[in-house]
Amino acid sequence: MDSMDIDHSNRVEPPLLILRPVNPMESGQGLPYAPENWPNPGDTWHWRAGPRVSSKGHFVDRYLYPPKHLPGLDTEIMPKNKVFRSKLSLDRYIRRAFPDADVRKFFASFSWKIPCRDGVMHQKQALLPVYSSDEDPMHDNGSDIVVCKAGNHNCGSLMPQSESDTLPSMPCNICCGEPTFCSDCSCILCCKLISLEHGGYSYIKCKALVSEDHICGHVAHLNCALRAYMAGTIGGRIGLDAEYCCRRCDATKDLVPHVNKFLEICQTVEYQGDVEKILNLGICILRGSQRENAKELLNCIESTVIKLKCGTNLEDLWNGDNTPNIWSGTFP
Ligand SMILES: [Zn+2]
Ligand SMILES: [Zn+2]
Ligand SMILES: [Zn+2]
Ligand SMILES: [Zn+2]
Repeated sequence: MDSMDIDHSNRVEPPLLILRPVNPMESGQGLPYAPENWPNPGDTWHWRAGPRVSSKGHFVDRYLYPPKHLPGLDTEIMPKNKVFRSKLSLDRYIRRAFPDADVRKFFASFSWKIPCRDGVMHQKQALLPVYSSDEDPMHDNGSDIVVCKAGNHNCGSLMPQSESDTLPSMPCNICCGEPTFCSDCSCILCCKLISLEHGGYSYIKCKALVSEDHICGHVAHLNCALRAYMAGTIGGRIGLDAEYCCRRCDATKDLVPHVNKFLEICQTVEYQGDVEKILNLGICILRGSQRENAKELLNCIESTVIKLKCGTNLEDLWNGDNTPNIWSGTFP
């Protein structure tokens, strides 16, 4: 046996991939667009193409779903969806979870790029930030901007897991099946991004337990919820009392603890217009409530708004003798 033979027997030839062009949103399993039999025989990865196509005719967004049993997926940067959206995040994951794996061989075993059948440019969508799906995983210069599914680099899902007391959001293929809808930052009512500004006062996250180890996790703008009669005090069949009702899971959430943070948040806000906006939202949420703690908080917020309207400036409002009694009730 000569050395050529040995070399040949040890080498795994990359499979010859025939890249069949696919339609936007098309999905499939295994080759050529997802790994097969990796890390173990029978392990199948799934792929899905997004809606956007680059000028070269490849999909800008493509999703790779690993077999669910793979280790270390919970610590991945977007733990809740268990899907890779960039070669870079996949590369990082493979190196961390399988330190002995041949990463080059892994990437050579399937095609990251997916050609689009008609090569249509979706101009409108192309204006959104683009995932770095064309980057070379071997040359991570650390300067790529990581964005979530909704193209938001400020998304809570990208933050280090500070909310360690929070369970992961439920897997969802209703709204979250949409390629640009992110359960962490897309409003479930208008699909636009939520804002983390001013302590995130303007949105509410549903933390209802939907299974043993998942919360609902969907978010909504409070203004959208008020307009849709899914927040505030609403009589009749809806029956909300300073509460929020999640459209995704139907759970009801008390909004008094949320609004209770508003006065404190306002003390860190620089512009009076913003303070008024925050307090007015609080008033809209609490108005009409029959509950004592909600009424008490409403009084406190309303008196603060009156002081502002009477010309008290912010500094005097928080520092002077006019300090509002920041309501400090406790919740049952
Ligand atoms: Zn969803
Ligand atoms: Zn997001
Ligand atoms: Zn909204
Ligand atoms: Zn919910």
